[in-house]
Amino acid sequence: PAATAPARLDDLPLRPELVGEEPYGAPQLDVPYRLNVNENPYSPSAAVIADIAAAAATAATAANRYPDREARALRDDLARYLGHGLTADEVWAANGSNEVMLHVLGAFGGPGRSVLSFAPTYSMYPEYARDTHTTWLAAPRADDFTIDPDQAVAAIEQHRPDVVFVTSPNNPTGTAVALSTLELIIEAAPGVVVVDEAYYEFARAGTPSALELLPRYPRLAVTRTMSKAFAFAGGRLGYLAASPAFVDALRIVRLPYHLSAVTQAVARAALAHADELLARVADLRDARDDLAAWLAGRGFEVAESDANFILFGKFADRHAVWQGLLDHGVLIRETGPKEWLRVSAGTPEEMAAFKDALDRVTKEQG
Ligand code: PMP
Repeated sequence: PAATAPARLDDLPLRPELVGEEPYGAPQLDVPYRLNVNENPYSPSAAVIADIAAAAATAATAANRYPDREARALRDDLARYLGHGLTADEVWAANGSNEVMLHVLGAFGGPGRSVLSFAPTYSMYPEYARDTHTTWLAAPRADDFTIDPDQAVAAIEQHRPDVVFVTSPNNPTGTAVALSTLELIIEAAPGVVVVDEAYYEFARAGTPSALELLPRYPRLAVTRTMSKAFAFAGGRLGYLAASPAFVDALRIVRLPYHLSAVTQAVARAALAHADELLARVADLRDARDDLAAWLAGRGFEVAESDANFILFGKFADRHAVWQGLLDHGVLIRETGPKEWLRVSAGTPEEMAAFKDALDRVTKEQG
C-alpha cells in the first residue's frame, strides 16, 4: 500500500549501530555570552570582509564549472603558511579538520581496524570511528591529563591500533604533549599517527609543533584548522601536513570536488590576512592565563591549558552550575570528565561576564 504518513526514523532501515544516536553538537543558543565551542570571539575587520566578499564574487563568475578538485592554489598557500619547507604535495585540506579526520579513517581505518586515542579527549573521534566502521579504543590519561609515555606505549603494544590520534593541545583539557612522548608513540605505533594540533597557535611560546617530526616519520600526519586561531570557523577549512604518500591516500577517499570553489577562494583570501587574523592570539592566551589564575584564586581546580579554553572543577553537580551560568546569559560547555566544565577564552567583556556569573552562581548554589 502507498504510504500515507511520513516515515518516522524508527520505521526506516537505519544501520543498527546508529539506532538511538543523536546528531552531535553543542547547543547553539542565542545568549549574550557564548563561550562553549572555543571560537575566536573577534570578528573579521572590514578589510578582511571586503577581500572575502571579492574572492567569493570572483569564484561566482565560474560557478557553472566544478572547482579545482585538487585545491592546488589553496594547498600551496597553506604549505607556505606552515613553513618547515612543506610543499602543496605534503598538504591536504577539507571542510574543517573534522572532515580531514574522516578522510584519515576512511583511508587507514575501516572494518576490522581500530583507532586509539587518549581519553578524555575530543568527543567527535568516536563518531568518526563509528561512521567509518572503525573500532574505537581509548587509553586513559594520567590524573593531571598528561599522557604517560610508558602507559601510552604499553596501550599501543597491547592493542596494535591501525590509527593513533594524539591531540595536542588536547580538547577538552588543554594539555600539550611533549615531542619526546610523541616520538615514543610514533615509534611504537604499527600504523599511522595523527597529531591533532587544532589549538597549536595558542600554545605557550616555545612549544614545538609535531611538524618538526614529519621529515623523520612518513606515517605521521599533523592536522590544523582555520577555525580557532584564524577566527575562521564559519569558513570551514581544516588541513593536514604529511608525506606526499599519506596525502595520496586521503585523495582516494575524498568526495570529488569536496572543497567548493567558494570555500577555496575565501580561505585563500583569509590566509592572505594571516597576520591580522592571528593578531588576537596573544590576547586570547593572556585571557586564558588570567582566567586560570582567577579560577584558581576562587579555589577551583584548573587544568593547565595551552589552548584557548580552560577545564575547571570540580563540581558534584556540574549540570546545575552550567544551567546557573546559562540563566545569567553565559553559555559554557558541559564536556569531558564528569565533575568538570569547559569555558572558552574570550574578550575582556566576555571574561568579566563569565566571572561575574560564576560568582553569582557559586553564591546562589552555596
Ligand atoms: N580537533 C579538535 C581537537 C577540536 O577541538 C576541533 C573543534 N572543536 C576540531 C578538531 C574540528 O575543528 P574544525 O572541523 O572546525 O576544523
